[in-house]
Amino acid sequence: MSDYTKILLDENEMPTQWYNVVPDLPVPPPPQLHPGTMQPATADDFAALFPKALIEQEMSTERYIDIPGEVLDVYRLWRPSPLFRARRLEKLLDTPAKIFYKYEGVSPAGSHKPNTAVPQVYYNALEGIKKLTTETGAGQWGSSLAFACAQFGLECEIWQVAASYNAKPHRRTMMEVWGGKVHPSPSDVTDFGRSLLAENPNHPGSLGIAISEAVSEAVKSDEIRYALGSVLNHVLLHQTIIGEEALLQLAKVGEVPDVLVGCTGGGSNFGGLAFPFLREKLAGRMNPTIRCVEPTACPTLTKGEFRYDFGDTAGLTPLMKMHTLGHSFIPEPIHAGGLRYHGMAPLVSHVYDLGLVEAIAIPQTECFAGALQFARSEGIVPAPEPTHAIAAAIREALACKESGEEKVILTALCGHGHFDMASYDKYMRGEMVDLELSDEAIAEAMKSVPVLA
Ligand SMILES: *Cc1c(COP(=O)(O)O)cnc(C)c1O
Repeated sequence: MSDYTKILLDENEMPTQWYNVVPDLPVPPPPQLHPGTMQPATADDFAALFPKALIEQEMSTERYIDIPGEVLDVYRLWRPSPLFRARRLEKLLDTPAKIFYKYEGVSPAGSHKPNTAVPQVYYNALEGIKKLTTETGAGQWGSSLAFACAQFGLECEIWQVAASYNAKPHRRTMMEVWGGKVHPSPSDVTDFGRSLLAENPNHPGSLGIAISEAVSEAVKSDEIRYALGSVLNHVLLHQTIIGEEALLQLAKVGEVPDVLVGCTGGGSNFGGLAFPFLREKLAGRMNPTIRCVEPTACPTLTKGEFRYDFGDTAGLTPLMKMHTLGHSFIPEPIHAGGLRYHGMAPLVSHVYDLGLVEAIAIPQTECFAGALQFARSEGIVPAPEPTHAIAAAIREALACKESGEEKVILTALCGHGHFDMASYDKYMRGEMVDLELSDEAIAEAMKSVPVLA
């Protein structure tokens, strides 16, 4: 098999366990803290938000966790997902590098998010929960949770960041097709939302605000829980099916990655792809450079600090030690809505802090230029978020052209951009601008990070 375009796995080759990177790390990750006592959070502290099974996974130090049969059944609607060799992009770039991308846009919602939405809804359903609340930025996570709730018969209520709610009406319709109920955030249905609207009726919203609204609704009733689409350990755990499949697929064609690049918003598609490869690297079986790619307008890893901070704007969540720009930070409404988050997954922040992965920031016009090259060669129109990963892969491939190295580059194309035509339109009309964040703006937002004794 030497002239392949995509590498497929049979359904019966699909991995049946998720991988937990925690026990393999040289230093254990810092615990989450209770926001009142500042002591390490216990399972009870999360009980109003999440079902027991997910809290156990959040705190687990088991290396492998079995994927329940009911979850595997739903995964089979689109998994295993294909791994592509980007031969046409390689040719366009005239590079000796080999570029591989794991395509997660084949899921019903069009991204990697259903990989965690499905198990999250499953475990809630098992524990008798009737409704889930959540936030969504670009609408990818809200769609994924609405889809998963429809699979297991739960209600789904979603707060969508106002800027996206207005810019992407079709995503909202999609959530409603799957039975979800959608509010723009800030909304007039929560106290916090009303207080923000009183200050600014045209508030663009942020993920941090939408999380606060969804959490405040969930804690009202014992039959309602909250679901988060990124950042948390259990979310990254569920996403490792991406990397586990990619390992099997690369092995089929006898390739080993030299460089792995992934876009990081909250860190879940990156962690999902990278952690199984990090396991192999730590075990000395391969030695890829692993690199996070973030937008220059929301440079959490490259410009934020590694500190304890809240996951949401109102300060309702446990404190997590993570790279943060400050929980009061409201990113500019860049097109990659899914990358507009003030923090980074504690696990991704931790491995970055340990020097096990690198990070770079790329401005959005370079990302969209790369997306057009990708779409015109490979055919698939990427979501704005993975255009960051594509731009980084292109940088790497062009460096190989200079040096003559035949590096193997692996990335995740974590979603398609079929609902993002307004962004492409803006770019092609020459109206997209790069948003560089000033050091003053970062210093101002960092003031909201609590100072711990
Ligand atoms: C949500 C989303 C992201 C950002 O979230 P991560 O947790 O960093 O993966 C990136 N790409 C797509 C397509 C998304 O839907």
